[in-house]
Amino acid sequence: MDDFKVTPWDVEGVVDYAKLIEEFGTSPLTDELIEKTAELTKSELPIYFRRRFFFSHRDYDKVLADYESGKGFFLYTGRGPSGPMHIGHIIPFFATKWLQEKFGVNLYIQITDDEKFLFKEKLTFDDTKRWAYDNILDIIAVGFDPDKTFIFQDSEFTKIYEMAIPIAKKINYSMARAVFGFTEQSKIGMIFYPAIQAAPTFFERKRCLIPAAIDQDPYWRLQRDFAESLGYYKTAAIHSKFVPGLMGLEGKMSASKPETAVYLTDDPEEAGKKIWKYALTGGRATAKEQREKGGQPEKCVVFKWFEIFFEPDDKKLMERYHACKSGELLCGQCKRELIERVQEFLKEHQKKRKEAEKKVEKFKYTGEL
Ligand code: SF4
Repeated sequence: MDDFKVTPWDVEGVVDYAKLIEEFGTSPLTDELIEKTAELTKSELPIYFRRRFFFSHRDYDKVLADYESGKGFFLYTGRGPSGPMHIGHIIPFFATKWLQEKFGVNLYIQITDDEKFLFKEKLTFDDTKRWAYDNILDIIAVGFDPDKTFIFQDSEFTKIYEMAIPIAKKINYSMARAVFGFTEQSKIGMIFYPAIQAAPTFFERKRCLIPAAIDQDPYWRLQRDFAESLGYYKTAAIHSKFVPGLMGLEGKMSASKPETAVYLTDDPEEAGKKIWKYALTGGRATAKEQREKGGQPEKCVVFKWFEIFFEPDDKKLMERYHACKSGELLCGQCKRELIERVQEFLKEHQKKRKEAEKKVEKFKYTGEL
């Protein structure tokens, strides 16, 4: 019996990622694939790949082969707009930006306002549309290329319905139920939704690559069951680990537990206070004990956040690790350093978010390239 659980709607416990690869039937992102990515892009890899924040894949080897042979590929990702975005939501978008930039490919970003309305009992349709606009600003602020990035909101981009119809004829109820966990009480809109979600994987007659957290993988398994029967490629994916919330390494940062998350729109001062108050460390009971025994970075959320996003320099990350282990670095100082990085990031992001208000139209996908 596993002491962790990963489904598209729930992540519990400390995830054993090697075990998850076996359970989900995906493949590990090997050194060979990572090196091939560096070779093809002629670039130094960003931390998300170097440090295996992305750790698993389906058919990424085929994506690279298609790129090398000149067939190319395209990227697809998305966001369910049910509330403000937090740091855990945005990190995969930075990795996606790197892929788009280095491979020079098109990227489609689906904003599933319809899905969130259907699946979240308390949200009105107006709420999800409002959050869609809000979240789009955060996504644009990441710095995507407007000539190659196409953002569309399901409720506005009605052409998607036409594309979803042939897909809807390929998915039967039990296939969808196995992935989405539908019950007798599920709304009929929810049952059609998998067809809408799969449609963007067919936007181009090339292989589609989805960078997403591994909990989303079951959705794409469904697409892989029928894609070839419609004359398209099975979608490929690269899977990331989860960004932990402030209060522990279990599960993932969750919008439903606001004290565990730092939101992209948080006032930097308030975010700092939140980290100071809630971030779990691997520190000892007293400073004296920590100086003697050293800290435990492997149990520490502060260290994890540096590792995943806030310390791009590998050498400095290792120095922090050793300084912690040797007892030379204490948690107060370490936390303050993380707070500074997070605040710098938030200030910069919020500036770009403001500028994004003028760019929204440039990114809108109308179905024409
Ligand atoms: Fe974590 Fe830093 Fe404390 Fe070490 S010193 S346990 S890395 S907060």
